[in-house]
Amino acid sequence: MATHRNPLIIGAGPAGLTAALELVHRGVVPRIYEATEHVGGLARTPTAGQWRADPGGHRFFTQHEEIMDLWKELLPHDEWLAVPRRSAMLVDGHLVPYPLLGRELVTRLGFRSGMRGASGLMWSRFRRGMRAVEKEQTFREWGIEEFGKHWYRIFFDGYVRKTWLADPDSLSSDWANQRIKPIDWRRAGKRGDADDDVFRYPRLGPGQLWDAAAAALTDAGVTPSLNSPVVGLHHDGRQWNIELQNGDIAAGDAVFSSMPLQLLMHMLKPAPPKHIRAIAGTLRHRSLITVAVALSEHRDIPYNWVYTPGADCRVGRVQNYLRWSPALAPEGFTGTYLGLEYFTLPHDDLWLADDETLRAIVERDLQVLGVGDSSVQQLMTIRSQYAYPIYEAGRERNVVRIRDYLRENHPGLHPIGRNGMHRYDNQDHAMLSALRSVGRYFGEKVDPWLVNTGLGYHETGLLRS
Ligand SMILES: Cc1cc2nc3c(=O)[nH]c(=O)nc-3n(C[C@H](O)[C@H](O)[C@H](O)COP(=O)(O)OP(=O)(O)OC[C@H]3O[C@@H](n4cnc5c(N)ncnc54)[C@H](O)[C@@H]3O)c2cc1C
Repeated sequence: MATHRNPLIIGAGPAGLTAALELVHRGVVPRIYEATEHVGGLARTPTAGQWRADPGGHRFFTQHEEIMDLWKELLPHDEWLAVPRRSAMLVDGHLVPYPLLGRELVTRLGFRSGMRGASGLMWSRFRRGMRAVEKEQTFREWGIEEFGKHWYRIFFDGYVRKTWLADPDSLSSDWANQRIKPIDWRRAGKRGDADDDVFRYPRLGPGQLWDAAAAALTDAGVTPSLNSPVVGLHHDGRQWNIELQNGDIAAGDAVFSSMPLQLLMHMLKPAPPKHIRAIAGTLRHRSLITVAVALSEHRDIPYNWVYTPGADCRVGRVQNYLRWSPALAPEGFTGTYLGLEYFTLPHDDLWLADDETLRAIVERDLQVLGVGDSSVQQLMTIRSQYAYPIYEAGRERNVVRIRDYLRENHPGLHPIGRNGMHRYDNQDHAMLSALRSVGRYFGEKVDPWLVNTGLGYHETGLLRS
């Protein structure tokens, strides 16, 4: 038992809770401080009566056995659903299955569009073949090279502008290889028959897993302190002191922080040098407003997700909740239950819109989606301010400089998770970074910053029963 240790954890999302579970596993009792009134962070399940919603559409998949084992340990087998992955893009009124299938591309959008796309792709591939050296690419360059000019324009340009709220020329492409699957030319229109087209999903939404994690921790004597925002962080030369909004101070030998990295650097004392604070100030986030809407009429939409790159609607992506889990709606509900995802920036007009304005936008979008005639039975709005770390040019270099500064000056301060490390992490990456950070805290030679740095496609995982 390592009883002399008393670490503190900021945030009870997947990373913070995983760090706590691992510490408990190794005989250490941490304290967890969570700003909001719930655990699960971005992967919580907000509720309104018997309605449940998923803020982001959380597919559970991983390439790491240790994460899969932890998920299985926390939730019993019959609470996990195996859900076939079915996504589509709404382009010019047509639903085109996504990830893109070669045969669908040349047939669904008409002969002319198909030919334009195919010749654009061949030309891009020819040019790639002629390129003498590998170079860092913007998202637009990457997209045109990968999909050809026509298919890039109709599927990705508008979508990236809408979801990333940035010009594709100003975005680096380093996340794209991990997240965007190349066109599949092999399987002629067949889907759902391979392991990688099925993901796991907790019956009651993603937060069910994190509620179970919190319950396991409570059983072990570690109950996260909710409604406890951390507003200050100070190393006094001997130990860490974190200051809570209510003025309380908690002291410990180490801190695992899943709060946004730039906020951490801002509240750290002694204050980091000016250039490090300036770099931290450049790290930005996009926010997300998810509007869960239950419509009284049933529409048969054979997809979990529909991406909406067109400029005719403001919504960026639509979740079809009953395809994720029927238990997200009350028993006996026979209508359609959708989650409209609006990508926004903190303080822009959408983020600041009042409920009435937002509802008008939602109703207009439902018309464009072709479901506007059905009456709205239930509506729930979920706001996630720090939803996506923005991948601007220079982000990687800047984050590395902050990492190096912290390593050298504050080895007992461990940034973990998606916003903690300012990375486009899925839950499993956030969890792994927490596990590796705890390992480091115990003196193991592991590097949490190496998690989620592979350049290959990430969106598939192990599937074991
Ligand atoms: C739209 C969307 C879709 C996604 N889809 C998937 C998917 O399909 N599959 C998947 O695996 N992952 C998905 N993710 C990613 C997943 O949500 C994250 O990887 C995961 O939630 C990260 O966990 P975390 O603990 O690092 O961060 P978070 O979930 O952000 O948790 C951080 C916690 O810290 C708390 N906190 C912040 N500041 C403070 C403070 N000052 N004091 C105290 N507490 C604080 C926050 O309130 C929060 O609870 C998606 C995310 C989004 C936004």
